[in-house]
Amino acid sequence: MDFELGREEEVLRRAVSDFCERRVKGVALELDERGEFPRELVKEMSGLGFLGIMAPKEYGGWGMGHLPWIIAIEEFGKVFPSLGFFLEMVQLGIYLLRNSGKKELEEKIIPQLLKSERIACFAATEPGGGSDPSSTRTTARVEGDEFVINGRKTFITLAPIADMAFVLAKTDDKFNIILVEREAFKSTRRENIKGLHAMPVGEILFEDARVPRSNLIGEEGRGLVLALNAIATATRLSVASLGLGVAEGCFEHALNFAKERKLYGKPITELQAIQFSLAEMNTEIEASRWLCYKAAWLLDRGKNPREAGPDIARAKLFAVDTVNRVAPKAIQIMGGYGNITEYGVIKLLLDAVTLFSAGGTQEIMKLIIGRSIV
Ligand SMILES: Cc1cc2nc3c(=O)[nH]c(=O)nc-3n(C[C@H](O)[C@H](O)[C@H](O)COP(=O)(O)OP(=O)(O)OC[C@H]3O[C@@H](n4cnc5c(N)ncnc54)[C@H](O)[C@@H]3O)c2cc1C
Repeated sequence: MDFELGREEEVLRRAVSDFCERRVKGVALELDERGEFPRELVKEMSGLGFLGIMAPKEYGGWGMGHLPWIIAIEEFGKVFPSLGFFLEMVQLGIYLLRNSGKKELEEKIIPQLLKSERIACFAATEPGGGSDPSSTRTTARVEGDEFVINGRKTFITLAPIADMAFVLAKTDDKFNIILVEREAFKSTRRENIKGLHAMPVGEILFEDARVPRSNLIGEEGRGLVLALNAIATATRLSVASLGLGVAEGCFEHALNFAKERKLYGKPITELQAIQFSLAEMNTEIEASRWLCYKAAWLLDRGKNPREAGPDIARAKLFAVDTVNRVAPKAIQIMGGYGNITEYGVIKLLLDAVTLFSAGGTQEIMKLIIGRSIV
């Protein structure tokens, strides 16, 4: 067993961390407050190759594994979690295209996603409940060479600005994923979600949206399996890593504050109660890190999404619960200052809360883990 990261991972971590220090740290709070998608920063990330960490080299990516990819997400999580969430969205599109069975779509769209020329969203959740995909009401009727799609999707990250959507829909009683271009759907409203505020989330409406049948992603009738695999390996694992990064960000804020803050003539780090709190935070963060890294490592060792599923679920469950314990503790250590936006942690707390349901709720994680045990 080897707990050392490889040279590639260390170099990548430093590159992302440098970028965050240089370009992101100073503007993150303001950009987040505005709630606008940070196009300029995303362009820079694309130029530096960060969007293509896991993309094949033939499309301009780096062809690296899940571990380096989640390390990059962890680094963004410390400073501006919305950017880490965007890395996830790009990878989700890449995963679906690489499993589409359509080389021409893969060759055309992956380079566009990596250059951030076009943005894709993934639309599975519906008003009837995200945890229960069998309640999917969106239909894709076959008419000649076309699918005709009708239905409504909710909570779709990037929907208000996306150029295309990968949509989970039912054809008769079978599930399909279909690639739908912007012209064919309406983004009807943006939700006012305060966490990950720079990643717009909204509703999508399909009213007799006509799409060529050649836009079917993956095998006919296998859409649900493909969707669940994409959610597990792209969304869920990255949400876990984002939780880890946000927890680290909160911890750093609290530690730096405690070193500076003097009471009774000495820094509050000398108080045992503060040390205990820091020790608990630090221990949970370490445990989260190794759960996340192990899940990524399993995927990189060739485990399929079903085999690695319980480990991914454990990472998400624990890292997201951890960050939701760590963020309030960091605020407590900082006393009244923890509540001031400019001190950074209150914003990270809002991001942490948003992670509870993104990528599947904590209860669904327990179901996946429980089923693997009994
Ligand atoms: C920031 C954000 C971004 C998102 N982005 C996307 C996206 O891009 N695309 C997309 O398709 N979706 C997206 N989602 C939706 C997300 O996947 C759903 O919110 C999630 O799956 C839960 O669905 P729901 O909100 O409908 O809650 P519900 O499924 O209605 O769940 C309600 C409650 O019931 C509990 N519950 C449900 N089933 C069980 C069970 N069997 N046992 C015990 N408890 C249960 C849940 O844990 C939860 O507490 C996003 C969500 C957020 C918050």
